[in-house]
Amino acid sequence: MQITVGIPGALLYYEYFPLWKAFLEGLGVKVITSGSTNKEIVNLGVSQTVDEVCLPVKVFFGHALILRDKVDYLFVPRMVSVEKKAYTCPKFLGLPDMLRNAGLDLPPLIETTVDLSKKPWNLYRAALDIGQHFTDDTFRILRAYRRAVQVWRRFRELVARGATLYEAIEILEGRGKSTGGPSLDLTVAVLGHPYILYDAQISLNLLRKLRSLGARVITPEQIPAQDIKGGLAHLQKPLFWTYEKRILGAALHLLDKGGVDGIINVASFGCGPDSMVGEIVERKVRKGRRPFMLLTVDEHTGEAGLATRLEAFIDMIARRKARAGYGGAGH
Ligand code: SF4
Repeated sequence: MQITVGIPGALLYYEYFPLWKAFLEGLGVKVITSGSTNKEIVNLGVSQTVDEVCLPVKVFFGHALILRDKVDYLFVPRMVSVEKKAYTCPKFLGLPDMLRNAGLDLPPLIETTVDLSKKPWNLYRAALDIGQHFTDDTFRILRAYRRAVQVWRRFRELVARGATLYEAIEILEGRGKSTGGPSLDLTVAVLGHPYILYDAQISLNLLRKLRSLGARVITPEQIPAQDIKGGLAHLQKPLFWTYEKRILGAALHLLDKGGVDGIINVASFGCGPDSMVGEIVERKVRKGRRPFMLLTVDEHTGEAGLATRLEAFIDMIARRKARAGYGGAGH
């Protein structure tokens, strides 16, 4: 019988699902996901975690529980680092331990460590370790790995060309087509972790709401790595958190280059890295005299209040642009 592996649809799913899926399927494994986050998943996760944990981790627990009785393994790699000299947050490092010790009667976890901080080729080692759960054939693992990296590159290209992470996953799955984004009068940069911005339940449909209000939306994933690096060059000291580097680098690049009428930073309540870097982002953006809004989300955030704040923000930047000949994009 075909082995089934469950990939919870939360946290790094939003960035690595195409890579993981292609790799596992290349090994003859059936991949099952937990689908989009909904209220039931949030409630499940909240019920099994302590209050202090950030919402994305609570949601991850909910997704893991949805998969509990459906799969032979749960895929929860320990993502220590995904690039040289930078790290993910401590919650990612401890995620397999938190799940394993929560007494949830989960299937065995595939919790291979991925640490590319010093040696990028450790990714291949991690692939070998994962592959050995399913086959002894090293060449088969290598083939599956190569094919997965190709799929991953295509995914990154789609994102670089303007598809959102979600659209890119749908295109790769043959379910969607790239829109390249709407071309409207206002451009708003929405900064935050991809597993918050692209999870419609956690972000309360923030991206869609902004589009429906007439704004073109840019997220850090759509800004080329070179530009983010250029933005970070303004800092006196390097940052060591991958996602915060991306958020702050995107903000600094956009302040330099222009092209946005306003910036929204979305943070999670209980997120240590967000609380530090969010403060720097806010100071820089306000100093650059760009309209700015900070949104902090948790499981109690209400959709109606968010919609009102977004409407007021869009209204304010539209009036500002019209009144002052602000010029918007490019200034
Ligand atoms: S970076 Fe923040 S939001 Fe993300 S997992 Fe860590 S604590 Fe949670």
